[in-house]
Amino acid sequence: MQRAEVVIVGGGIVGASIAYHLTAAGCKGVLIVEREKHQGKGSTGKSMGGVRAQFATPVNIQMSQYSIAFYAGFEERIGHPSGYRGQGYLFLATAESHLAYLRSNQELQKRLGVQDVRMVTTDEVRKSYPQLRTDDVLGASFCPTDGFVDPYSAMTGFTQWALEHGAQIWRDTEVTGINIQSGRISGVETSKGEVSTRVVVNAAGAWAAEVAKFAGIDLPVQPLRRMLVPTEPFDGFPHTAPMIIDMSTGFHFRPEGRGFLLAWNDPEETPGFKTEFDPAFIEKILVHAADRVPCFENVAVNPKRAWAGLYEMTPDHHAILGPVPEPEGLFLANGFSGHGVMHAPATGKIVSDLILRGTTELIDASALGFGRFQTGKLLHETALL
Ligand SMILES: Cc1cc2nc3c(=O)[nH]c(=O)nc-3n(C[C@H](O)[C@H](O)[C@H](O)COP(=O)(O)OP(=O)(O)OC[C@H]3O[C@@H](n4cnc5c(N)ncnc54)[C@H](O)[C@@H]3O)c2cc1C
Repeated sequence: MQRAEVVIVGGGIVGASIAYHLTAAGCKGVLIVEREKHQGKGSTGKSMGGVRAQFATPVNIQMSQYSIAFYAGFEERIGHPSGYRGQGYLFLATAESHLAYLRSNQELQKRLGVQDVRMVTTDEVRKSYPQLRTDDVLGASFCPTDGFVDPYSAMTGFTQWALEHGAQIWRDTEVTGINIQSGRISGVETSKGEVSTRVVVNAAGAWAAEVAKFAGIDLPVQPLRRMLVPTEPFDGFPHTAPMIIDMSTGFHFRPEGRGFLLAWNDPEETPGFKTEFDPAFIEKILVHAADRVPCFENVAVNPKRAWAGLYEMTPDHHAILGPVPEPEGLFLANGFSGHGVMHAPATGKIVSDLILRGTTELIDASALGFGRFQTGKLLHETALL
């Protein structure tokens, strides 16, 4: 029988980052088990790649701070590009309540050390981006170190580094069961046979609840479809623009290649493993796009290039990280609620710390523990996209 120190279920960006951080911390014998032939077929390859520290809760801000700095120095550390571009996130407020919300979030962000985040006047917005309709914009919030990464490239970099330093990956291999003896993990069943191990990390993205069930855990993570629409090449808006978020509708967009990537979270979407792109979405999103960016009225999009993927939602829109009370040896890295790319570096560090040392200095890990669903101490992140 094969043996591993740690088995990571799922080889997306989260599993890859955990493998990197464990290996870099000296753990020998890390094995990633990924059911697809190629990594990135889950949510990682579908992501918009946005990274931001503009959140409303301390843990999310702290995880972004670690992660954004990590992505900025990724190539130097790992020898592979993350594709980080610090073009910023610009939240456009169209109500006094939005402004108050952005200001109070900024106070917290600054207190935690996000130095460059600042309020921007409507005039400044208008001067920088005259293409935006700003008649109802009351102000904005901007953080220049927010931006974008290439999720596939970062996942590949994490994986390659870990493999070159002793970790292993089994692709095209499904984890089908978790073995427990006397209340502690003893191994995993896979489509290629059993692996003996004392530590299993659930990094199965939107499928995490299915994996948790193998160990008798009822994990509150639900899949929710999100759709993205890339435009054809378009030069009517600057390609140096940040991610721009219209707070009145939730419509947001960013430059991508020679065109733009358009996003909007349809409030009518319901949970489920739906990964088909719905062509009717194009008309809905283009209405919001043209409303905020009138020159997008005639932008060309090709429905064949649009795609859908899954967010992995938790009841309080925060990740669930760390050990479960029982079985001993099962660790969770789940429920990123649409922030798994930007929080992957921090997650790798936190989960690796918790496995190897039982504690972490990066965040108050108890805040994100599975136990919060028993005690009812939920957190509430409202800065969702
Ligand atoms: C349209 C869209 C836009 C997004 N935009 C952003 C963004 O701008 N910024 C951001 O930070 N996040 C964004 N996200 C969210 C982000 O993509 C996810 O949070 C992140 O990719 C989660 O990574 P993961 O490794 O946990 O999951 P995944 O990438 O889904 O990886 C999980 C892996 O587990 C494997 N697996 C599952 N079950 C088993 C099993 N039983 N055995 C073996 N393998 C198994 C799957 O095959 C999969 O490869 C977006 C998501 C979508 C869909």
